[in-house]
Amino acid sequence: MIYHSISVNVSGYYFAHTWTSDRSLSDDDSDGYPRLHRRVQAIPRTAQLLEHAGLQRRRHTCGVVGLAIARQLASREGTSTILLERHDAAGTETSSRNSEVIHAGIYYGTDSLKAKLCIRGKQMMYDLCAKQGIPHRNTKKWIVAQNEEQWNAALGTHKLAQTLGVPTRLVGREEAQRREPEVQALAGIVESETTGIVDSHSLMMYLQGDLEDRGGDCAFLTNVTGIEALNGGRDGYRITAVSADGTQTSITAETLINSAGNGACAINNMVLPRERHRTPHYAKGTYFSYSASFPKTSVLVYPATLPGHGGLGTHLTLDLAGRIRFGPDVEWVDDPTDLKPSPARLQQALPEIKAYLPHVDPEAISLDYCGIRPKLGRGGAVNTGKGFQDFVIQKEEGFPGFINLLGIESPGLTSSLAIAEMVEGLLYR
Ligand SMILES: Cc1cc2nc3c(=O)[nH]c(=O)nc-3n(C[C@H](O)[C@H](O)[C@H](O)COP(=O)(O)OP(=O)(O)OC[C@H]3O[C@@H](n4cnc5c(N)ncnc54)[C@H](O)[C@@H]3O)c2cc1C
Repeated sequence: MIYHSISVNVSGYYFAHTWTSDRSLSDDDSDGYPRLHRRVQAIPRTAQLLEHAGLQRRRHTCGVVGLAIARQLASREGTSTILLERHDAAGTETSSRNSEVIHAGIYYGTDSLKAKLCIRGKQMMYDLCAKQGIPHRNTKKWIVAQNEEQWNAALGTHKLAQTLGVPTRLVGREEAQRREPEVQALAGIVESETTGIVDSHSLMMYLQGDLEDRGGDCAFLTNVTGIEALNGGRDGYRITAVSADGTQTSITAETLINSAGNGACAINNMVLPRERHRTPHYAKGTYFSYSASFPKTSVLVYPATLPGHGGLGTHLTLDLAGRIRFGPDVEWVDDPTDLKPSPARLQQALPEIKAYLPHVDPEAISLDYCGIRPKLGRGGAVNTGKGFQDFVIQKEEGFPGFINLLGIESPGLTSSLAIAEMVEGLLYR
C-alpha cells in the first residue's frame, strides 16, 4: 500500500522501534500527522522525511508494482513515501515467482488496461534496463500451432497485434528450420519481435535503491491488519500493522495505495463497505527446470493460447544464462501460500511440452517452483477468452486518496513502470 501526500518508506526495523500503538498516543494532536511525526524523529532518514509533516503521505505494499509506484511518487517535491511489506524483503511473493518475460502486449483488447499498460510498460522497461544496465534481452517469441484450431488462435493474435500496432510476423517453414530446428510447429508460427526477458531481481533492486535515493523508505516485516477510513477518507486513513515481534502499530496518512498482489482483495475489503468487497481467486502455476543441454532454443516458445485458458499455456522460457524452463501451467487453488510444486502437474505438462519440443528429454525435466496469479475471476487470460478480466486500477468513489490495484496478474511485471505512471496521473491530474 502507498500513502500519498507525504510518501514515506519505512523499514520494518524503523516501524518496530520508532512507532507505537495508538494506545500510548494522545488523540488531541492537531497537525493531522502527530503520531507518525513524533515517533520517527529518532530515525535520521525517516525523521528527515517527516519534517514535511502536513504534506502528503503515501503508503503501499511492495512487489515490483509497489516499488515502481513508490519510486514514481517519491520524486514528487514536498512528499514522502512509505512502502509497507509484511516480509523481510521486497518482491518475495508473485514478483519473484514469474517467468520474467517482457511481454509484447498482443493478447488483450485494444481498450484494455492490460494492452495499453503492457505496450507502454514494455518500452519503458527496455529503456530503463538499457540506461541502468539491468540485465535483459530481446529474445523474441514464437507462438506455435500444431493444428487448425491453434493456428486460427495464433492468427487471431497476429491480427490483434496489427491492430494494436505491435510488430508480429509469420515465420515460414524454411526460416523456422534454419533458426530453431528443434521446435515443432505443424500448423504455423507467429513471431512476436518485441518480446524479451529481464532479470526481475536486478530490476527490483534497482527500483528499491532508486526509491531510497529519491527519499522513500521501506517498512519490512510490517503486516497490515486493519485500515480505517477517517471521516470516509477525507481525514486520511489509519493503518494498523503488526511487526515481526507481534507489536501492533498504527499510523495515519492522507493517501493509501493498495498494490498488495494476492493480498489486495483483503486490503480492499478492509477499506470499502461490504457491498464493494471482492473475492480473490488464485491461479497457481508450476514451473519445471530442464537440466539437459539439448535441445536448445534461442527464442521463447508458447503454444497458441485457446480461448478460456487461465494462462498462456505451458510454454518454454529462457533465463539470461540461456537455461530453459517450462511452465507455468494453471491450477486453481484456495490458498495463496500453496507454493509446493506437485509431481502430478509434471505428468500433465509433458505432452504439452513434447508437442512443440519433440526431442525433449523427460528425464531432465524436474519440478522447480510455483507462483500464484492474483485473479478476480476464473475466466480466460486472453482477450478472446470467456470472462476476460482486465487490471483494476482506480480511485475508489467516496474514498478520497484511496487508489486500488486489483487483479495485477500477468503482464504486471512488464506493465509495472507504466502502472506507476498511471497511478501518479490518477493522483495528480
Ligand atoms: C506464474 C506467474 C508468471 C508470471 N509471468 C509474468 C511474466 O512473464 N511477465 C509479466 O509481465 N508478468 C508476469 N506475471 C505477473 C507478475 O509477476 C505480477 O503481475 C507482478 O509481480 C505483481 O506485482 P505486485 O507488486 O502487484 O504483487 P506482489 O509481487 O505479490 O507484491 C505484493 C506485496 O504485497 C505484500 N502484502 C500483501 N498483503 C500485505 C499486507 N496485508 N501487509 C503487508 N504487505 C502485504 C506481499 O507480501 C507482496 O510482497 C506472472 C505471475 C505469475 C504468478
